[in-house]
Amino acid sequence: MKQPYLLLTPGPLSTTATVKDAMQIDYCTWDNDYRQVTETIRQEILNLAHADANTYTTVLLQGSGSYGVEATIGSAIPRTDAVLMIAMNGAYGRRIGEIADYYNITHVDVEFPEDQAVEPQRIAQALTDHPEVTHFATVHSETTTGILNPIAELMPLLKARGIISIIDAMSSLGGVPISVDDLDCDYLISSANKCVQGVPGFAFVIAKQTELAKTAGNARSLSLDLFAQWQTMTQQPGKWRFTSPTHVVHAFAQALTELATEGGVMPRYQRYTASQQALSVGMQALGFDLVIDPAVQGPIITSFKYPHTDFNFDDFYQFIKTRGFVIYPGKVSAIPSFRIGTIGDVNTTDINRLLAVISDYQQIHQ
Ligand SMILES: *Cc1c(COP(=O)(O)O)cnc(C)c1O
Repeated sequence: MKQPYLLLTPGPLSTTATVKDAMQIDYCTWDNDYRQVTETIRQEILNLAHADANTYTTVLLQGSGSYGVEATIGSAIPRTDAVLMIAMNGAYGRRIGEIADYYNITHVDVEFPEDQAVEPQRIAQALTDHPEVTHFATVHSETTTGILNPIAELMPLLKARGIISIIDAMSSLGGVPISVDDLDCDYLISSANKCVQGVPGFAFVIAKQTELAKTAGNARSLSLDLFAQWQTMTQQPGKWRFTSPTHVVHAFAQALTELATEGGVMPRYQRYTASQQALSVGMQALGFDLVIDPAVQGPIITSFKYPHTDFNFDDFYQFIKTRGFVIYPGKVSAIPSFRIGTIGDVNTTDINRLLAVISDYQQIHQ
């Protein structure tokens, strides 16, 4: 079957033919072969995140990325005597707040405009104002806009106060260099269908073993009990608690091999950055202004303003889609905008083809 278009959306994204091919077999789950695949994945995730295996562990969890965030919030944060501070500058930060509401977790929200990065100085002040805070969560790459938040600058503030840190690195891990050892964070979450370039179906959490070990009995959900999932995966190495997405797991193992073949996270980061730069420059030349300051722009996804008030996004979207590219609507509430992702099996040649299509659209609609 021919792939009808390239996904320029930040997960699911365009995967290679070889990643898709890895899903052509109905694999069994119970034997050593499969468990070895799971164990290798857990180890390789630690390697690509620069997380020491003596200190950290990887827990894989069925579901999309939000399941991983919810499992972490609902398992890491005790039922009583805990206060979560959330630094928010977009929809994914707000989603952490929604999760906290479902779990009746007291949370202090520090909100920033959607077109600005989280500011460490304001977080420092908020932490001083709220000495009751025990846990802190934020998003690394806020996919709402494409902003990369300065997590390395936030970590020392949390460490100094003994606060447990939870980082949603969903759309950055694998595509942006991250060193969990250097960050010394407690939980870092990502999923199969983002920068590792697998297909959707599971999330994973890199957790500090000493902290995760304290969370027995915290979970308010059976399937989202991160501690229980970890126990099963380590006591019977490579075993998942409930049915795992076998095809997705094999595709992910193949995606990890391809990440290594590409040379690891740094060359992938450079490829994404080159695509993002080509896109940003080309789109501005075609009359589309940027929503966020290039100083805080990450390589994952870029938001563009509508070029004029009667711009018809649906028409624009269909025009592009029939010519082989799928883009993303905007998510910034205040600014009419749309987004184009530059992650996945995509390079500058693809971006230049896209720019030619958009140029054609502009010619017709001038
Ligand atoms: C993709 C993403 C998620 C998870 O979204 P799902 O739809 O549940 O996969 C969470 N946070 C960020 C920053 C993301 O980009």
